Amino acid sequence: MVEINKNPGAIAGVLDTARIKGDFPILQRTVHGKPLVYLDNAATSQTPTAVIRALVDYYERYNANVHRGIHTLAEEATAAYEAARAKVAALIGASPDELVFTRGTTEALNLVAYGWARQHLRPGDEVLVTPMEHHSNLVPWQRLARERGLRLRAIPLTEDGRLDLAAMDGLLTERTRVIAVTHMSNVLGTVTPLAEIARRAREVGAVVVADGAQSVPHLPVNVRALGVDFLAFSAHKMLGPTGVGALYARREWLEEMEPLLAGGGMIRRVTLEDATWADPPARFEAGTPDIAGAIAFGVAADYLRGIGLEAVAAHERELVRYAWERLREVPGLTIYGPGPEHRGGVISFTLEGVHAHDVAQVADGEGVAIRAGHHCAQPLHAHLGVPATARASFYLYNDAGDVDRLVQALYAARKLFVRP
Ligand code: PLP
Repeated sequence: MVEINKNPGAIAGVLDTARIKGDFPILQRTVHGKPLVYLDNAATSQTPTAVIRALVDYYERYNANVHRGIHTLAEEATAAYEAARAKVAALIGASPDELVFTRGTTEALNLVAYGWARQHLRPGDEVLVTPMEHHSNLVPWQRLARERGLRLRAIPLTEDGRLDLAAMDGLLTERTRVIAVTHMSNVLGTVTPLAEIARRAREVGAVVVADGAQSVPHLPVNVRALGVDFLAFSAHKMLGPTGVGALYARREWLEEMEPLLAGGGMIRRVTLEDATWADPPARFEAGTPDIAGAIAFGVAADYLRGIGLEAVAAHERELVRYAWERLREVPGLTIYGPGPEHRGGVISFTLEGVHAHDVAQVADGEGVAIRAGHHCAQPLHAHLGVPATARASFYLYNDAGDVDRLVQALYAARKLFVRP
């Protein structure tokens, strides 16, 4: 029998998780009769009451379109929408006019590929990617490469799943125009040295397109300090609602970028024959945006800033160290990726003799939500030589007791599937 930690906060974590859990109504529910332990935060995070209230408040009090009406409701909605842009931008050290609201990371990365790179890249130009990219920072580049005759090259990984920077240097040439790289792998948890990558990219005149879907929610991120050209992230992974996210882009790039969608809200002047574009960021937000979602995204940014991203990162570091030790006790368990000192709050693993889906199913039966599969990173799983992994991913409301419940579920899976 696995011993359950009686005082989780004292063993791991720097945050008051008991208080924080109280802010998240969903964490009070049970699953299959057991208190929910939510460890699928890399897929989507849970939503605090303040964010849910912001959504309801918009529809109850000032539901109106933005940037169009002059009545009170429209003005209030516009003011709240633009205030949310300022809050989200401030969280990453950007100014509001450098931040475009999108549907999420995927749309933001496609906007870079099709709005910026399609104009700027020529046949034979090279795009560096990494084997640990989520499909959303890989497939748009593959498509563009086919269309524009570009060459995709992959920066190799070290044995323990970090980027091999020495090998990257060997790939950097005057043909390198883009380095498309994740800031934190959603499978290995690897945190990449973005500032260093951006410094080396600048030396050859390449731009860095960073996937911040896993880093912005969990680490202090400052686009100026990192020196990246583009950064994409999603609200639903950082306590906000689904269907909204953001693209940060350096102002000079935004000015030159072409919109993906054309229509209302993104124009300066339209005649029957022609149209000119509005200034960024409006140029990239054609049609009625997810107004309530964006406003709630701003509230999620406030909530995170209230707790402090340094504290969130420190909490997850402690939790990952604890989970690392506990998981390694489980017979037949293999963890993929670097040690706790080089990763964020994500641990992917396999359990010998038990398929990852069975691991997740048994865990669900124990009330523990984890993910299983390729996590939209098929090339990485091919590299690891496994078709699927199980993944536990942590956030600010998780504590050592949650890790213990996971470990207990893994023993339950072993008992069911592995013959003694
Ligand atoms: N990039 C990474 C690293 C992710 O983990 C995810 C989501 O799982 C995405 C991109 C795609 O995000 P979204 O589905 O919100 O567009």
